Amino acid sequence: MLAIEKNNGYQVLGVTISTYSKEEFFFLVQERLKDNDENSPPVFVVTVNPEIAIQSIIDNDFKEVLKTSTINTADGVGISWAIKFLYSKKIDRITGSDSFEKICTYCAELNQPAFFYGAAPGIARKASDILTQRIKNLHVSGVYSPDKPNIPFEDLPLGTQASLHSAAVVFVALGAPSQEKWIHENLGKLPNCKLIIGIGGSFDFITGNIKRAPLMFQKTGLEWMYRLYLQPARWRRMLRLPLFALNVMLLKTSSLDVQKPAEL
Ligand code: UDP
Repeated sequence: MLAIEKNNGYQVLGVTISTYSKEEFFFLVQERLKDNDENSPPVFVVTVNPEIAIQSIIDNDFKEVLKTSTINTADGVGISWAIKFLYSKKIDRITGSDSFEKICTYCAELNQPAFFYGAAPGIARKASDILTQRIKNLHVSGVYSPDKPNIPFEDLPLGTQASLHSAAVVFVALGAPSQEKWIHENLGKLPNCKLIIGIGGSFDFITGNIKRAPLMFQKTGLEWMYRLYLQPARWRRMLRLPLFALNVMLLKTSSLDVQKPAEL
């Protein structure tokens, strides 16, 4: 029987990337949503891209946060390339943007309320309006767009605290590493949360606030290039891509930190 195994996967610059296929990942998500045992721990998902891996090297707090997550998926094409390069294994990419709407459909089917946290003012609300129209029976318990990324749960408006409290799934769109840090700090205050996931710009994509790259770019791993074209201010972040590739290549040469997952 397939079960969630925390911290089992391929090491990429010290970040563990889970080995689940896309199918297995979404199966496990559904199983967790069906599980009503109060003692079952929440599933904390990080969708890892090369910028996150580099950030974890320079930001020790973030590195520690990534050790507490339950499943780290390969979001960026750079991560799946690194696993191919280091371990000669092909793994599925599971992106925050692709997961967002899919998990919302599971919430609707399994009657689990969702909360949309993050993005610019009005965007989470708009995303909720669009998805509740598109997905029958989707219940969004609340939305909130904080004016700064690191607001503790206790400082949120009381109504927001109450609807976060009742949510089974929380989507957090603050960009990395803020969203993962916020989750780490506040997850303990969400007793009904079964699944929490950082989804970056997904509210922007659903609302059309930012256009997602055409499928051709997504399939060829060039989504980052299209986003750079739409949001040139991201150029500084993009410098991390060659840095990531260089680090992975050096890692292979030195064979340091290249560990195979337990079952392989
Ligand atoms: N964001 C936010 N507060 C912040 C910084 C970012 O709510 O302080 C939101 C931003 O509006 C966007 C989302 O975080 O909706 C994702 O940002 P980014 O593009 O950096 O993430 P990526 O998709 O690259 O992971």
